Amino acid sequence: MASHIVGYPRMGPKRELKFALESFWDKKSSAEDLQKVAADLRSSIWKQMSDAGIKYIPSNTFSYYDQVLDATSMLGAVPPRYGWNGGEIGFDTYFSMARGNASVPAMEMTKWFDTNYHFIVPELGPDVNFSYASHKAVDEYKEAKALGVNTVPVLIGPVSYLLLSKPAKGVEKTFSLLSLLPKILPIYKEVISELKAAGASWIQFDEPTLVLDLDSHKLQAFTAAYDDLESTLSGLNVLIETYFADLTAEAYKTLIGLKGVTAYGLDLVRGAQTLDLVKSNFPKGKYLFAGVVDGRNIWANDLAASFSTLKELEAVVGKENLVVSTSCSLLHTAVDLVNETKLDDEIKSWLAFAAQKVVEVNALAKALAGQKDEAFFSANAAAQASRKSSPRVTNEAVQKAAAALKGSDHRRATNVSARLDAQQKKLNLPILPTTTIGSFPQTLELRRVRREFKANKISEDDYIKAIKEEIKKVVDLQEELDIDVLVHGEPEITMQRNDMVEYFGEQLSGFAFTVNGWVQSYGSRCVKPPIIYGDVSRPKPMTVFWSSTAQSMTARPMKGMLTGPVTILNWSFVRNDQPRFETCYQIALAIKDEVEDLEKAGINVIQIDEAALREGLPLRKSEHAFYLKWAVHSFRITNCGVQDTTQIHTHMCYSNFNDIIHSIIDMDADVITIENSRSDEKLLSVFREGVKYGAGIGPGVYDIHSPRIPSTEEIADRINKMLAVLETNILWVNPDCGLKTRKYAEVKPALNNMVAAAKLLRTQL
Ligand code: GLN
Ligand code: ZN
Repeated sequence: MASHIVGYPRMGPKRELKFALESFWDKKSSAEDLQKVAADLRSSIWKQMSDAGIKYIPSNTFSYYDQVLDATSMLGAVPPRYGWNGGEIGFDTYFSMARGNASVPAMEMTKWFDTNYHFIVPELGPDVNFSYASHKAVDEYKEAKALGVNTVPVLIGPVSYLLLSKPAKGVEKTFSLLSLLPKILPIYKEVISELKAAGASWIQFDEPTLVLDLDSHKLQAFTAAYDDLESTLSGLNVLIETYFADLTAEAYKTLIGLKGVTAYGLDLVRGAQTLDLVKSNFPKGKYLFAGVVDGRNIWANDLAASFSTLKELEAVVGKENLVVSTSCSLLHTAVDLVNETKLDDEIKSWLAFAAQKVVEVNALAKALAGQKDEAFFSANAAAQASRKSSPRVTNEAVQKAAAALKGSDHRRATNVSARLDAQQKKLNLPILPTTTIGSFPQTLELRRVRREFKANKISEDDYIKAIKEEIKKVVDLQEELDIDVLVHGEPEITMQRNDMVEYFGEQLSGFAFTVNGWVQSYGSRCVKPPIIYGDVSRPKPMTVFWSSTAQSMTARPMKGMLTGPVTILNWSFVRNDQPRFETCYQIALAIKDEVEDLEKAGINVIQIDEAALREGLPLRKSEHAFYLKWAVHSFRITNCGVQDTTQIHTHMCYSNFNDIIHSIIDMDADVITIENSRSDEKLLSVFREGVKYGAGIGPGVYDIHSPRIPSTEEIADRINKMLAVLETNILWVNPDCGLKTRKYAEVKPALNNMVAAAKLLRTQL
């Protein structure tokens, strides 16, 4: 009985690769230094897997930046603007594509399926001259072999590579990416031949696009590609690896019909129906790589449950042909639990990071082979049982309250236009009211205070005093700029992307935080998602002190600032012992308590950010409606109890709304502020819906992601374009996201021009 790992995190247990990369980019260390760190990481990973007893150990899953960019390099598909002149692609060209250079911006980056990993999108047109330009896959295979490990080299499959690409500039509308298949396959053949010559006996093609909604033309491309590769692949065992969702019956049929393929890797954690497909029809003599250990989460596997699934599969595919595997690459989980010094033993016993998952996979394989490690299995069973019965996990009152939400609909009693009227009486805002999204620049002084407080160098009183002073500065500045609805600037919320979540998670029960539980987001960037392990409740108010302090400094309305339940959920490791929507409802109830306390404290405008609502959208269209229904319901739960006069804002950071506009309307917020920096045209149709809807809309009037300061005329022009499709009385004027990444030298003039533009237009209306 054999074991296999689909892929492994590259960053290292303490983000060694991140620091080596950043030091290299800053010219503080040499290419050799970076290569040395990378080689050490690779060899320790291979050693760890071979020590654990894993039979099929992957290579070429390491990357200096991104595995899709590695494939682009392998194929020599460098966009001409990077000035590459052929030959083996080196760090210069590679990192220019990834990060841009002094004269050329980086290639586009986008989310890898529904994970928080981002890949560099290949840009392909009819003129690309493919050539074998990076021997990384072969080099890494040889490197491992020299260390005594005969690995399974991993390549992104040719069809997934093309389906994940975008047409180059100029041919966007006309070009069929799949038409490039005959041009890239010869390069794949060169790589395969070299791997064979180097001694490889297995090869893994990752073809995760097989789980998407594919038409027959796309499915046909898989058949054609592997038909063409068949003779080159002969003599090799070929694994096609799929992950992240169920396969449709058609996709499964295509998969098991591929020529020259000997093994299929399936995600059995997310793909519950895939199991039925396998049971009903599995080709004789082929291998099944059964992904039973979850690569997307940090929970210890329920070994007894997996073991019985594997037993069932064994009866279908045969003892010799069943390989125990992970559901997907372990890239999407944290690296090693050993480095968690702050989690208590009970919680730790419930968890498994990548290093522990490797051990689980092997334990399952050994058990199937009749060598069950009884001690390991019973420790695991005890941990599963303790998780089920722990009072830290279950809070009956929360369970009951969340269960009571199901099946019923929670929304504010009055419709939005009546509410806006009531609010206007109280707030008395001008037309085209101005506001910002929440955060203000993070100053060096603020960072110093925070650092010193965390290091116990200054007292809590001093810390609070410093934050209050910062809030006062931000409030004074906004008054000076004459902004209508103020924010407190979020100085108490720290700097990283998911701090919007961490700040709230730390104050809610049911959350745990790791010290080193980093997951690669893109390049050298990592996030450290909180772990939701138990029923969520809010022991005491979280933001009321700061918001009311800020409100006391001004006569203008001060927006309370909260992160919404869906965003908290989507940026956390979520418990797997109840459906996601149940956890989301619990968070919604906790946020509801906060919203109501803010209202009681005299905060009349409350913004509930749902930056990540769209990120949770399932891969398959058939599942969208269900997700959107409970996600939007969760948002409404947070504010269904407020008075008409309390104005609820929400903010979202993505501009691609068209497909979910009805859900956004159904959130029933009073005002939505949205990012709008890159896609005016698309948003117009959304605005038209907005007119019917009647709620306030604040499409960002300038791009905060750039240091450029927009002029008054430019902003006025932008607002005018919006006014052409929107009613005057629903339009808000605001930047397109929070200002925390900008400097005051940029923010002050930009906001000044924004307010001037709003005032100018008010006189003309
Ligand atoms: N209120 C948050 C801020 O201004 C919103 C951040 C976000 O949309 N990602 O920083
Ligand atoms: Zn935003």
